[in-house]
Amino acid sequence: QAVVRPRPTPSPLRFSKFFQANMRILVSGGAGFIGSHLVDKLMENEKNEVIVVDNFFTGSKDNLKKWIGHPRFELIRHDVTETLLVEVDQIYHLACPASPIFYKYNPVKTIKTNVIGTLNMLGLAKRVGARILLTSTSEVYGDPLQHPQTEEYWGNVNPIGVRSCYDEGKRVAETLMFDYHRQHGIEIRIARIFNTYGPRMNIDDGRVVSNFIAQAIRGEPLTVQAPGTQTRSFCYVSDMVDGLIRLMEGENTGPINIGNPGEFTMMELAENVKELINPNVPVKIVENTPDDPRQRKPDITKAKELLGWEPTVTLREGLPLMEDDFRQRLGVPSKQSS
Ligand code: NAD
Ligand code: UDP
Ligand code: UDP
Repeated sequence: QAVVRPRPTPSPLRFSKFFQANMRILVSGGAGFIGSHLVDKLMENEKNEVIVVDNFFTGSKDNLKKWIGHPRFELIRHDVTETLLVEVDQIYHLACPASPIFYKYNPVKTIKTNVIGTLNMLGLAKRVGARILLTSTSEVYGDPLQHPQTEEYWGNVNPIGVRSCYDEGKRVAETLMFDYHRQHGIEIRIARIFNTYGPRMNIDDGRVVSNFIAQAIRGEPLTVQAPGTQTRSFCYVSDMVDGLIRLMEGENTGPINIGNPGEFTMMELAENVKELINPNVPVKIVENTPDDPRQRKPDITKAKELLGWEPTVTLREGLPLMEDDFRQRLGVPSKQSS
């Protein structure tokens, strides 16, 4: 029989709301792609104070430059595998390299980040009585045998493959979240994020959207990995951030899929990038990497019902929104200004 333990006392900072309305929010991995867009959105609310911790492995201060020096913002260089002592009301725990090139670069560090990093964030949440949201991933479904994937599906994951540090790491992170919830009464939220794209994606991280946009801008062939019929569903980053905040503010622990159910083959994605960014580039089929999931598409019924959330930006609307940011970072001016 399950032992029911008392909930920890909520953070004194929560009660401080009666005296000062501010909510103090920690964003781990806030210097990264999704994290920095989340910080932008949280900072729009004048009642929020935001603390970012990041070790800058894949993230960058540049992504946060407009907030550095702001009185409601703090940036701390910190590795989540180490103990962290801060006083906060909410924790968005994103810290973890997300692209295969980076998470395979040092797989032992990736799994430490997922396991020890999440344990530390949970220990912190327990000590201060904060609510904590984990950005898990559609990769917990592995190479799925159910399509589209609902939250009830347990996944088809290789425990000893080259992606395991990431997908098994996130599965353990989810387990830790639920064990802290059941055993210590911590308020948890778990988002299972599906492929997300938008400005500030790392240019060299090998992800398909950033690769294709950079290739189209540089006038290079778009590298479709064989067979090109594998599918993904791409969510624009502003929709993602909106979903994460709704999940944090709502009453459901999750896990909840957050993604755009519009499903495209990699060949279709290449054709769209070609048409929208540079019609003159060819498409080239190249070798794929091991364990590449053949199809992936979220079932977002739960997000719609429980969060009142669904994506609003289509792929064809979102792709052109990345062009200016990529041109600027690649140093390739647009045709009009050249
Ligand atoms: P990102 O690589 O841009 O951001 C991750 C951030 O975490 C970076 O700023 C990095 O420097 C930081 N970080 C990594 N290890 C750290 C450590 N040990 N200590 C402190 N900071 C550390 O990736 P992203 O796309 O913004 O992803 C953010 C989160 O969303 C990740 O948890 C990722 O697993 C999840 N996610 C992303 C996608 C996607 O399509 N982008 C899909 C599924 C899940
Ligand atoms: N922890 C942290 N900040 C805190 C509280 C805890 O980083 O404010 C870390 C702590 O170092 C520990 C982990 O979170 O390794 C888990 O903490 P918990 O209290 O749950 O477990 P214990 O310390 O009893 O092992
Ligand atoms: N992919 C591709 N060309 C590239 C990079 C990736 O065709 O230049 C394919 C890859 O084989 C995979 C899909 O795009 O099927 C998505 O890969 P990504 O690394 O972006 O994300 P993930 O596999 O984590 O979903």
